[in-house]
Order: sequence, then structure tokens, then C-alpha cells
Amino acid sequence: MRLLGVFGGTFDPVHYGHLRTVTEVQRTLSLSSVHLIPAAQPPHRAAAVASGEHRLAMLDLALQDFPDLQVDARELRRAGVSYTIDTLSSLKKDFADETLCLIVGSDAFQGLSSWHRWEGLFELANIVVMQRPDKQVGGNLPAWAIKRIVDDANGLRKQASGLIWIDEVTPQPISATRIRDAIRSGQPVSDYVPPAVEAYIHKHQLYS
Ligand code: ATP
Repeated sequence: MRLLGVFGGTFDPVHYGHLRTVTEVQRTLSLSSVHLIPAAQPPHRAAAVASGEHRLAMLDLALQDFPDLQVDARELRRAGVSYTIDTLSSLKKDFADETLCLIVGSDAFQGLSSWHRWEGLFELANIVVMQRPDKQVGGNLPAWAIKRIVDDANGLRKQASGLIWIDEVTPQPISATRIRDAIRSGQPVSDYVPPAVEAYIHKHQLYS
């Protein structure tokens, strides 16, 4: 069974908290590839600060050092709100032979049951939850989650959709909000983003 990672976000900007964690998941699960999919219109939050074009350009630069990850611009090309269910349906058509693994941070997972047609997600993909510092899930998960949880990464190979695995990835205490704040106050962000992304941000005066 080939597993394809699907990792959506605003990537405003992309940072090591995305890149390192998802690379770790990629290795643990031997994913054939991971698609990083920037949202055009995220349903659950304010619009991105940087344009889709800038966010895509920063992803392209960042992924030069992460060859197992690839940028997928399908949500930017699609009109309307960027619903994950539509993205998974479109990926399923393009990669019919692969098991889709939707990768989400634990903060995003906590809001999953408010996503558009959320139960349908389990018909199209398995879900990998990456624990995020200060936003961990585990203790009091709802019944719909508990019944789907597998104990280890190999458990996800048992069926092509409907399972959840919580991955205790190496914590990366980084967020795009923190990076935008740092840039606004003139602080360096080289600990958080690849050098080419930092140079791009300054060249185009993003977030300042
Ligand atoms: P913002 O601070 O603007 O909310 P963000 O840093 O959370 O942004 P997003 O692009 O919104 O980044 O996140 C995309 C996905 O990556 C989400 O599923 C989110 O939970 C996950 N994610 C972001 N940062 C981390 C991190 N440091 N560790 C694990 N997952 C992360």
C-alpha cells in the first residue's frame, strides 16, 4: 500500500514547524511524497496576509532543501472557499492507487468536527495528527476519534481511510503568527524559516 501525505495550511509564511514535522512524518510512515497545499480562502480563519502568489513562491524556495515534499497549488487554482473535503476528492481522482494521509497539527485537529462535511473526510483518507507544543490532544478525545485511533504508524496500513494516528513528533515551538510578529518588530527569523524564505520576505517587504 502506497501512502501519500496531504498537508494543507495557509503557509503565511511556511516555516520549520511545518517542514521538520512533516518530514519526520514522511520518514516514519515511508510516505511516497507529501503535498503541501496552500489555501486560497481558508474556511476557519482570517484570510492570509500575503497573497497566494507570495505564499506559493516561499513554499517553492523552502522545498529546495526538502526534496521529499512537494508544492501542490490546486486550492489556489480552484475558485471559492478551500474546503479540505474538495481537495481530498480531487487528489483521490489524481492518485487513485494511493492511500491518502491527511496530516494536521493538533490545534487544527481539535476543530475538525466543525469542518465542512467533516465525516466525509474519513471516507477519503486516514488522518495523522502531529502533536503541537501547548496544544496537545490525547486526554479527553471524543468517541468518534477514539474508535478510529490506531496505536502505531503501521496501523494506518490496515485500511485506506477512516483511521487516526497521533504522532508524537519532535516539538517545534514555531508558528507563522510568531514569525509575522517578529518581522513587524524588526527581529531576525532565521531560526524559524529557511534562508531563502527570509530573503524573499525582506525583498518583498512582506509582514512589515
Ligand atoms: P498561524 O500562526 O498563522 O495560525 P501556523 O503556524 O499554525 O499559522 P498554518 O499554515 O496555519 O501555520 O498551519 C498549517 C498546518 O500546520 C496546521 O495543521 C497546523 O496545525 C500545522 N502546524 C503549524 N505549525 C506547526 C508546528 N510548529 N508543529 C506542528 N504542526 C504545525
